[in-house]
Amino acid sequence: MSNNIVIVGAGVSGLTVAYILSQDQNNKVTVLAKHMPGDYDIEYASPWAGANYMPVGKGGSDHQAWETATWPALRDLTENHPEAGIHFRDTLIYNRTKDQGSATGQWFSELTQANPWYEDVVPDFEAMPQERLAPGIDNGQKFTSVCINTAIYLPWLVGQCVKNGAVFKRAVLKHIADAADAHNSGQKADVVVNCTGLSSKTLGGVEDEKLYPARGQIVIVRNDPGPMVSVSGTDDGDDEALYIMTRAAGGGTILGGSYQKHNWDALPDPNLATRIMKRAIAASPSLVGKGQGIEGLDIIRHGVGLRPLRDGGPRIEREVVNGVNLVHNYGHGGFGYQASFGCAEAAVSLVKEALQSKLRAKL
Ligand code: FAD
Repeated sequence: MSNNIVIVGAGVSGLTVAYILSQDQNNKVTVLAKHMPGDYDIEYASPWAGANYMPVGKGGSDHQAWETATWPALRDLTENHPEAGIHFRDTLIYNRTKDQGSATGQWFSELTQANPWYEDVVPDFEAMPQERLAPGIDNGQKFTSVCINTAIYLPWLVGQCVKNGAVFKRAVLKHIADAADAHNSGQKADVVVNCTGLSSKTLGGVEDEKLYPARGQIVIVRNDPGPMVSVSGTDDGDDEALYIMTRAAGGGTILGGSYQKHNWDALPDPNLATRIMKRAIAASPSLVGKGQGIEGLDIIRHGVGLRPLRDGGPRIEREVVNGVNLVHNYGHGGFGYQASFGCAEAAVSLVKEALQSKLRAKL
């Protein structure tokens, strides 16, 4: 008995669901998307992400459970599938108590806590002794995390799905229920999985007003400073951020960033870019040669992506719209990669529920 499934969206959310579902040969998966890996567009968040694993979910929340469930999957890919473009990295986290009230400080509040819940999840967690902290830093920690080269990882996911028999198609939907007529078999889909990220704000049949962007501006450079670094905030503005991460397999180093809520501007702001580069060098002088400033950075590209934030957190839910069985999996803010497997597994459970209820209705 085969299940016809259409997944709308080829970002990390849609591709992870497709990767899991396509491993079962009973599932005939079609992935339909406006943007695919290889595209760079302001409507497509996934290519812009660093991306690393820096847990931010509140202790005891679903978000924490999704991030906890994702670490073993990312670790397994890193250890056993080097061609997926993920590597382990030493990671340094610094907290300034004064950042607590800022947009960035709130985003990172769990990450920067002195005894965070994830200390038992990631390897090599260790609090930094006070005497090793720079002036103004109230606490710091070190652990091993991963950095994903999204330019390799997203196509790798596509390749795995294709190998499992999934079919990829380009299309732009006006209404989510129309996806049910787009299955590669020509038959009606049994279930549609909606992984359209921020576009679910305007997509017909969804129109979720709880969604909004948190604009992230980055600079990608050829320099490699060593460990990944994240700080709870900056002195340049409440919604500016300071993080550094070097992608696997020659992907360059991402200097970030910003967390500008409700800001849709797709163009890099040159003044913000200068502040990002200056902050990165101050925090990690080994980025450039001795005595050098931003002229010592070798820039590959400036970029802007919109994190799909949602009031109340991601929507992973079943719904029937115009007679079509839907499973939603969108609204993953700044944590779409580090919660990808946890969220996709939750969505896959709902797909199985939807298939069973359809089967029962037929009997
Ligand atoms: P998207 O990647 O936006 O994909 C949406 C898909 O839906 C696309 O294929 C699009 O074409 C398709 N689509 C939309 N509308 C339609 C339509 N009408 N018809 C057909 N197709 C449609 N996360 C981490 O975990 N770690 C990080 O280090 C990290 N860093 C980040 C840094 C930046 C600068 C940014 C911007 C984000 C970062 N994130 C990070 C967050 C992460 O990138 C997002 O949470 C994630 O990419 C969201 O993926 P998605 O698949 O839900 O959406």
